[in-house]
Amino acid sequence: MGRVALVTGGTRGIGRAISMALKEAGYTVAANYGGNDAAAEAFSAETAIPAVKFDVGDYAACEAGLAAVEADAGPVEVLVNNAGIIRDAVVHRMSPEQWSEVMRTNLDSVFNMTRLVLGGMRERGFGRVISISSINAQKGQFGQANYSAAKAGIIGFTKAVAQENAAKGITVNAVAPGYIATEMVRAVPAEVINERVLPLIPVGRLGEPEEVARCVAFLASDDAGFVTGATLTVNGGQYLT
Ligand code: NDP
Repeated sequence: MGRVALVTGGTRGIGRAISMALKEAGYTVAANYGGNDAAAEAFSAETAIPAVKFDVGDYAACEAGLAAVEADAGPVEVLVNNAGIIRDAVVHRMSPEQWSEVMRTNLDSVFNMTRLVLGGMRERGFGRVISISSINAQKGQFGQANYSAAKAGIIGFTKAVAQENAAKGITVNAVAPGYIATEMVRAVPAEVINERVLPLIPVGRLGEPEEVARCVAFLASDDAGFVTGATLTVNGGQYLT
């Protein structure tokens, strides 16, 4: 049995690709999800990876969810904070709910899950925490002040927690994807992608979820033991930090 990895939002989109890449690399994987039971059941049937439902924005739910995963699979050694949502609006029209839902699901979640796994990782002297940020954290995005702020928060959190845990064999890193061809992006009309999105990307195409997943698998590996506090940009050259 390989190391145990927990991927939040691991049943769909980029998270699904991460769950599958880690399984392929030999990890024992558990995939969390929030509410889409049908997608989670289909994912588990196809991949044989168990799906565990809990709300990553709720600390007590994370505590119970993690306990269930660890009772089943053993201590979590690799945590991938991937779950995320968007609630877009320009700030002068953004509701407090749109702000707080995004902060809760995209940033509070990263504190919740990381806080809960760190104790065991510190005791065992090994751990990997990898959080999915976004290009929009780095460059900002019209209509996404909530999302940009939450995703930028992940980068600061990553740098601080990396310093706090470096001496304990734990690395803490972020990955910042650009436009990735998930269901949401594929639903955008082809002419919009071809005329407005692709010209922004020097590589000339959208990224694939598997390309993000392979970066996560590298950061989870022993080979990446000297990489910590970093943000790996995976954006086809669209924005160079
Ligand atoms: P999807 O919408 O395809 O999947 C999101 C996943 O997160 C689902 O499994 C969903 O569960 C889960 N989730 C959402 N809310 C919660 C919650 N409260 N508790 C537990 N799980 C939850 O997302 P993507 O694959 O597009 O994005 C994955 C990550 O990558 C996100 O953090 C996103 O911000 C980031 N990202 C995406 C980019 C893109 O181009 N797609 C670009 C840059 C960053 P359920 O199925 O139950 O809803």
